Amino acid sequence: MAGIYLHVPFCRSKCAYCDFYSVARPELAGAYAAAVGREFAARRGELGCAPVTTLYFGGGTPSQLPPDIFCDLASLLHTPEVEEFTAEANPDDITPELLGRWVDAGVNRVSLGVQSLQDAELRAINRRHDAAGALKAIDTIHRAGITDVSADLIYGLPGQTRDSFADSLRRLVDSGITHLSAYCLSYEEGTLLWRRREQGLVDEMSDDDIADIYGDLCRVASEAGFEHYEISNFALPGRRARHNSAYWRGVPYLGLGPGAHSLDVDGLRRYNRSDLRAYISAPASVLTPDPVDREEHVNELILTALRTAEGVSLADIPAPYRAEVLAAADAHLRRGTLTRSADDRLVIPEARWLLSDAIIRDLLI
Ligand code: SF4
Repeated sequence: MAGIYLHVPFCRSKCAYCDFYSVARPELAGAYAAAVGREFAARRGELGCAPVTTLYFGGGTPSQLPPDIFCDLASLLHTPEVEEFTAEANPDDITPELLGRWVDAGVNRVSLGVQSLQDAELRAINRRHDAAGALKAIDTIHRAGITDVSADLIYGLPGQTRDSFADSLRRLVDSGITHLSAYCLSYEEGTLLWRRREQGLVDEMSDDDIADIYGDLCRVASEAGFEHYEISNFALPGRRARHNSAYWRGVPYLGLGPGAHSLDVDGLRRYNRSDLRAYISAPASVLTPDPVDREEHVNELILTALRTAEGVSLADIPAPYRAEVLAAADAHLRRGTLTRSADDRLVIPEARWLLSDAIIRDLLI
């Protein structure tokens, strides 16, 4: 099996925290789509004979693509084997008409950038929508017949409190979503929020407050029936994101569009430069092979698998490195910051996931 990721690099405005590649150039959507067609024709062989079972349109903002262009791209990339077709959306763009087109194109899962259900917090990060708009969008998606709805939330926002996050979280899990991705705000260099912090205009939330909110997040999600299956991801039973789960298991995927990354069937990683104009002129030539050596492969496996509830299987770590990883794990196993399951997997207990970066760092070879 394999997946296809399409990076849609258009956003109407820039959110204050975001360093993803996107541009406000909607007039280039047609040229972009034509370039995707050329890139796909040149690169489809990278997935070998593996059937494409997941399709993911991310961004940027796929809901900013004109519906005709979205549907053309969907019909180019969709195959009968696709089981999950996710499209990311901004709540402000959601209409019954748009969703009707998406459903016809095969979309069966929507990932909605909610981020918060407090209007003041949304304004502080330059989001286009308000809380009422986000809840209305979820309702509209349900009415269109799409039952798999994921929502993104951010904790650590300027002005956010433990209570305001809890309120957003409770209203969101009550809205009928089946999946939740909750991320800690990070101040990325060059973003508007980063500049505001440098100027002393916003205060970063303390580690203690972050830990309290993360504890609330895990508890409330669990009480609502969500499984915490990856450090930032929660799903109702049977509703885990198949596309993202495949990334964490090292399943090959083809990343199309400027800024997209790929992993081919031979384990070779590639990435497309984040430059829409260059991409439109020569879509298949912006690839830059980025060969990784065997140790980097092992580290990638540890890095991704240890962020999941299943952890990393020792059987998946090549024999020459297993003893080294186990020796590094020993202190954590004795301390309880790692456990070793009956089927020989190293797992970080959920209560320690907030500290997972430090634990994982110790295990890298
Ligand atoms: S809509 Fe998404 S991709 Fe676009 S600027 Fe905001 S966070 Fe970034």
